[in-house]
Amino acid sequence: MFDKEFKNEEIVIRGERISLGESKLIKIPVDRLPTGTLIEIPVYVFNGKEPGPTILLQGGLHGDETNSIELVRRMLIDKSYKIHRGCVIVVPLLNIFGFLDFSRELHGKDVNRSFPGSTKGSLASRLAYYLMKEITKNVDFAIDYHTGGAQRSNYAQIRYTPQDERGKALANIFNAPFKFGSKLIPKSFRNECFKHDIPVIVYEGGESLRLNEFAINQGIYGTLRVLRYFNMIDKTIEIPLQNDTIEIIKKSWLRARAAGIFNPKVKNGASVKKGEIVGFIMDTYGETKFSVKSPKDGYIIAKNNFPVVNLGDPLFHIGNT
Ligand SMILES: [Zn+2]
Repeated sequence: MFDKEFKNEEIVIRGERISLGESKLIKIPVDRLPTGTLIEIPVYVFNGKEPGPTILLQGGLHGDETNSIELVRRMLIDKSYKIHRGCVIVVPLLNIFGFLDFSRELHGKDVNRSFPGSTKGSLASRLAYYLMKEITKNVDFAIDYHTGGAQRSNYAQIRYTPQDERGKALANIFNAPFKFGSKLIPKSFRNECFKHDIPVIVYEGGESLRLNEFAINQGIYGTLRVLRYFNMIDKTIEIPLQNDTIEIIKKSWLRARAAGIFNPKVKNGASVKKGEIVGFIMDTYGETKFSVKSPKDGYIIAKNNFPVVNLGDPLFHIGNT
């Protein structure tokens, strides 16, 4: 699948050189806050001595997606990036402004809809531009970490580009509980990388602004499996074995057919049968009780955690194989 022989080289970011066998923290200045405080994006480069692929691991493209930031941070602390071969470029938190605002966006703009970006556009657009120009140009492929939305938890899953065979292979190696092909979204990071022939897989786990140990660990284990596959890390690092990834072919949201208080009865990640009661919606006075039934056999791949729902609100994202 990975037919070419990977060979990492000296990395140059913002004029700073990181030779083979060197590790360095580089801070890319982006802008100042209105208070004058300089905002810099930390980029860690771990460049191994032996030849191997150069991989970008990127968290926090969306500023409120804290699991994505936390899992990258933990790997830095755990010294998982003691790289023997190949090179790992780590951006633990790309969208610092969104992080400070507890927001997915950067000053009202989605960085993940701002690619390829430009030097003269909004801050989101400039951030996208410099990510491609300074960092992504160096890499063979990337893992882009995300987290579900507000009060909406994604079960640990990998999304890949269906027409990208190497991305598919990476999704298999990552071995998250679920995976599915996801079409390219214009102006997204994955789309821009696809244009430059750089495979990207997107990891999703948990909900925004809430740490989820399972999602964090699954993200770490998957990343270690990829690094292990390319013989980049120490053989002694333990990675739990896991069942084969379940490939989701079709997915749809099960929506509320009544307003009220939502009581889910199945856990995220659970398998469900057609007609199975997966939750109840009750009005606040206890006069009505609606059963929520699964419309098909499948798996819960995302779940609403907000207890008050209106007609049409999404409750469960159900995927089938
Ligand atoms: Zn995201």
